[in-house]
Amino acid sequence: MIKQAAVVLASFIAAGGAVMACNGNTGAGAADSSKGPENAVAAEFPSEIEQLAENVFLFTNSTHRSLLVVTNDAVLATDPQGSQSNAERFVEVIREMTNAPIRYVVYSHHHGDHILGGEAFPADSEFIAHRNAEPYLESMDARSVDRFVGDEETIDVGGLEVVLIYPGPSETDSSLVILVPERRVAFMVDAVAVRTVPWRTMNDANPHDWISALERVETLDFDILAPGHGPTGSKSDVRENISYLETLVGAVQERIEQGQTLEEIQETLELPEYSDWVRYNEHFKENIQGVYRELIGA
Ligand SMILES: [Zn+2]
Repeated sequence: MIKQAAVVLASFIAAGGAVMACNGNTGAGAADSSKGPENAVAAEFPSEIEQLAENVFLFTNSTHRSLLVVTNDAVLATDPQGSQSNAERFVEVIREMTNAPIRYVVYSHHHGDHILGGEAFPADSEFIAHRNAEPYLESMDARSVDRFVGDEETIDVGGLEVVLIYPGPSETDSSLVILVPERRVAFMVDAVAVRTVPWRTMNDANPHDWISALERVETLDFDILAPGHGPTGSKSDVRENISYLETLVGAVQERIEQGQTLEEIQETLELPEYSDWVRYNEHFKENIQGVYRELIGA
């Protein structure tokens, strides 16, 4: 999909097309191709940008990723990326791509490594988060939120619909899916990734809730799964994440019923079918710990 988009773009430019390939407006003919019409998406993107679909991009800062929806009239960005300097670069990248106003900035969830730095965005950008993020934000140094949303809210980004969906508690109880239905892209941070085990003790989240949330994500209509870390995947990766969690919970539960301690489980339990997943060697024992704590109600 990504390669296809790049190839289409490259051949379009090679054929002498004006710099409008990404927003569906060909701009052919009389357009000034040296400058391009105002608010068009640039033909060449900064290296931190990956195009997922028409109007839809990922911005990468080190290992962290943000979604970017760019139309002629508006930009929606997620997650300022944890610091003023990261956010400044993010804004700079957006400005290299388009002159359209950055109307919306959505916090994917409330963790500081993703959301701090919002002051670098324009003063009139509207900051949006799920309502469950509110109590956490009160004690954080994050830019304040202008609009809290509930379970589902549709935002018009210059004529393109972006839907914010809260699928229930997963890694956190403020984690949103940012869905671009017409482009069949779903973005979610930390609660899902491609062939990657969850981070450390899984934020001590309830694994049953997490599974339910991913089952809800799986019912959404999309093809491209864009996680907040690591490579882009597809809907089948959501199912693989569910299978991993179900297998882990089942295995830990079984050993608890046999009277094993956390240490005994950590020493003996392996899930070979997931041993090639990213971070398995580093975080699998901590994943066990997170699930164990929840299952024994500690
Ligand atoms: Zn993260």
